[in-house]
Parts: sequence; C-alpha cells; structure tokens
Amino acid sequence: MMDDRPPVIVGAGPAGSCAAATLAAAGLAPIVLDEAPASGGQIYRRAPAGFTRPYRALYGFEAAKARRVHDAFDGIKGSIDYRPDTLVWDLRHGALQCLTGGRSREVPYRDVILAPGARDRIIPFPGWTLPGVYTLGGAQIALKHQGCAIGRRVVFMGTGPLLYLVAWQYAKAGADVTAVLDTAPFAAKRRALPGLLRGGSTFAKGLWYVAGLRARGIVVANGVRPVAAEGKDAAVSALVYRDAAGTERRLACDAIAFGFGLSSETQLADLAEIPFTWDPVQQQFLPERDLAGRTSVPRVYLAGDGSGIAGADAAELAGERAALALLEDRGHEVDKRRVAGLERALRRIAGLRVAFEAAFPFPVDIAAGMSDETVLCRCEGVTAGELRHAAGALEAGEINRAKAFTRCGMGRCQGRVCGPAAAIVLAAALGVPREGIGRLRGQPPVKPIPMAAVS
Ligand SMILES: Cc1cc2nc3c(=O)[nH]c(=O)nc-3n(C[C@H](O)[C@H](O)[C@H](O)COP(=O)(O)OP(=O)(O)OC[C@H]3O[C@@H](n4cnc5c(N)ncnc54)[C@H](O)[C@@H]3O)c2cc1C
Repeated sequence: MMDDRPPVIVGAGPAGSCAAATLAAAGLAPIVLDEAPASGGQIYRRAPAGFTRPYRALYGFEAAKARRVHDAFDGIKGSIDYRPDTLVWDLRHGALQCLTGGRSREVPYRDVILAPGARDRIIPFPGWTLPGVYTLGGAQIALKHQGCAIGRRVVFMGTGPLLYLVAWQYAKAGADVTAVLDTAPFAAKRRALPGLLRGGSTFAKGLWYVAGLRARGIVVANGVRPVAAEGKDAAVSALVYRDAAGTERRLACDAIAFGFGLSSETQLADLAEIPFTWDPVQQQFLPERDLAGRTSVPRVYLAGDGSGIAGADAAELAGERAALALLEDRGHEVDKRRVAGLERALRRIAGLRVAFEAAFPFPVDIAAGMSDETVLCRCEGVTAGELRHAAGALEAGEINRAKAFTRCGMGRCQGRVCGPAAAIVLAAALGVPREGIGRLRGQPPVKPIPMAAVS
C-alpha cells in the first residue's frame, strides 16, 4: 500500500524552515512542529506579538537574513501544517509524542527531519546557582524576546563567539557591561588566525564586537579562570576570577552571563536509535549522518546544529539538503547541481568550524579541576565530590552507571545542562579520556512535561 503521509519536521529554526520550504516547493505539505510560539529558532527568535523593536535593533548584522528567513516561512504557512507551541518529548516506533495545549498527542510519521538546534554548554563553578547567574543564551533571550536585561552591572564570562556577541548586544542596549572575560588564551586565537581569516565576514563581525566593547572602555580579558560567584542577600554580588597571570581579581556585579560554546540537542536522535560517535573537534558525542543528513535509520534525517554545531548559515543549507535527500528517497527528481553546490558549501563551513573551535577551546581543565563542593547537577543537588566518590569507591566506570549511583543528570534537565561537565569530572577522576566513559543516554521526556499531560 502506498504511504503518502506528509513528512514531519521537528524545529522551525533556520534548518527546519529551509527544509519546510524545500518540501513545500516540491508539492509536499510537511508537518512542522516547534515548541516555540513562532518560527525563527534561536538566532532569528521573533519578538512577541505587540513588541515593535525594528529588525536592525533585534538582529544587528543579521537583520536582512532574519527578515528573509521569516518572510520565507510566512510565505509557505498556507501550504504546510505548522504547529507552534508543540514540544516533541518522545520518539519511538514511528511516532512522535507531542505536548500541545497541556495535552500529549501522538504524531505518527513516515519520514522525519530532526532539526532541534543547540543549547548553551556550561561548566559549573562555585556560586553558579545563585540568582542573577544566567547562561549567555538565556541572557540573550531575555534581551531579544522580552527587551529585558538580566541586571544593571553584568559580567560576561566563558568563551566562544556568543560571549562577545551578547556582551555587545547588552552594551548597545544600554546595560553596564562590567567586563568580558574569555577563558580562551590569546595565543589560541593568534594560532587560529589563518583559519579564522577564511571565515571572512564572520571573523570581521567578531573583531567589530571586540573593538566596540573596548571603545566603550569595557575590559576584555583572555585566558581567565573562574573562581566563584559571590552572593549577598540571596543574589549574586561579585565574580571572583584569576587573570591570565594567575592574579585573583574580584568584580562587583548584579548579574553574570556565562557559557562555553554550544551543545547539540541530540536526545531525539538518540531515541531514534541513531548511532553516535565522539567528535574530537567539538568535544561531544554526535549522531552519525552523512553530508546529506541521512542517518543509518531509514527515513530519519538530521539537519542544523542538532547534529553538530555549524551556525545558522550552515543550518539553512543543511535543512535544504536534508529535504532534498528525503525527496530523492521518496523517488522525486532533484536538481543535482543544487545538491552538489549545497554539499560544497557545507564542507567549506565545516572546515571553518575547526578554526573556531581552536580559537575558543572548550576549557576541559576547568571542569576536570572543579572543587569537590561545587554543585554539579543542580536539579538533584549532586556535587562534583559525590560523582568522584562514585568513580572511586563505587567503581562507576561509565557515565550512566555513575548517574544511577548519584542521580547526577537524572533530574528535570535529564543531564542536558550538567552532562558535558559531569562526563569530564568522571573521566578525570578515573584517569581515562573523556570519550572513554560514554555518554548520557537520551530519555523521554526529553524536556519536562506535566504529569497531567500523560495521565
Ligand atoms: C540560546 C542561543 C542563542 C543563540 N544566538 C545566536 C546569535 O545571536 N547569533 C548566532 O549567529 N548564533 C546564535 N546561536 C546559534 C544559532 O542559533 C544556531 O547556529 C542556528 O540557529 C542553528 O539553527 P537550527 O535551525 O539548527 O537550530 P535552532 O535555531 O536552534 O532551531 C531549533 C528549533 O527547534 C525547536 N525545538 C528544539 N527542540 C524541540 C523539541 N523537542 N520539540 C519541538 N521543538 C523543538 C526550537 O524551539 C527551535 O525553534 C544561538 C544558539 C543558542 C542555543
């Protein structure tokens, strides 16, 4: 019997939007599921209805791209089945479990493109659970989505392009940016320079943000190490850090935004039983896929940052390529030259990524050296010391076993927040390479849902 059910796309960011446009152009009417109330994903997140900030103010250099992606999606709304405010919380046996309007409903699929994007990658440090400490992405969402700053005197700490971008956005919006503290040493950026220069406008934008911050008298420091966030009256009041020379310094502030690059949202790919491999460049386990987004699981495709961090431009290309792969597999004729062009562009961007990761290395040593008292898993209140105890006395040589012993990664976030650092703490305690202790398995619900929705 012919199965002509429409394809399903999870995520309406740049990857999902482009996949939807490609399928719609081929006459298919995909179902597009997204937990957000509007399309655009993280980078092109739209302001809520009634907010009137101009595109230039919201998206800066990316205003024209944001407009193009939004307009393209709005233009196909009539020919797709778009379901915003819909969280996909499970995937198995050819069906997605979706939370919408407080109820869970099943969406069976014949073929599915997973494009769920990424989230902040963090390393806990003493005091990180104090009110007023946010991730970089969280700080940006407050500004972009609600027009709010996370504080009046904000310290930005961590590494990666988002560190400078969000600090610049805050400075431009009128917040008092106290300092931008990068854990990456200056030498790493200097070494990565030839590769960064091939990034053209992306690199130029980074230089612009740094120059803009310095021009406002904001301290921009490299090679720092966080010591602790201090609190007063149950809120953050200072960040203590060591500078590149090892001198301890203290900055008064009422908010901290921190993050160390991004982690792919891979739980749905995991539930789809796609095999994973360790990616030494991105320092994370990633679901296996080819350049077209095909996986070893028939009719499950991956696109965008959810299958490896490559940025918004790559997400658009990958979304289109995955949709073309799906069309080819359904027997449609596709433009072979377009396919070749997309794959060429994706290969080029993957090459640039190596330079970005080298310029802003994930500071594994900070996680490995975390003090025993630091709360590592905030959902379950598990400290780094308790995880080390599991590694030693309880002989937990694998991350899921350590989770069973300690409950680290078993709470509301399912290890999405603490997982990357927990794995490093465990591996360091066991004296094995990070990839040697495995990865936290994805579990449903991939994000918290109310019990009432499934009872
Ligand atoms: C918080 C944050 C802020 C960022 N800001 C910038 C920036 O300002 N500039 C920049 O260049 N890059 C930024 N990035 C990186 C950039 O967003 C990505 O490179 C790009 O958006 C990737 O596109 P994508 O379509 O793969 O994923 P995304 O744009 O992340 O889109 C994924 C979509 O999937 C939806 N989704 C995820 N999981 C589910 C689920 N289980 N069920 C239903 N829907 C789901 C999300 O709501 C989202 O709309 C940011 C990343 C993050 C995490």
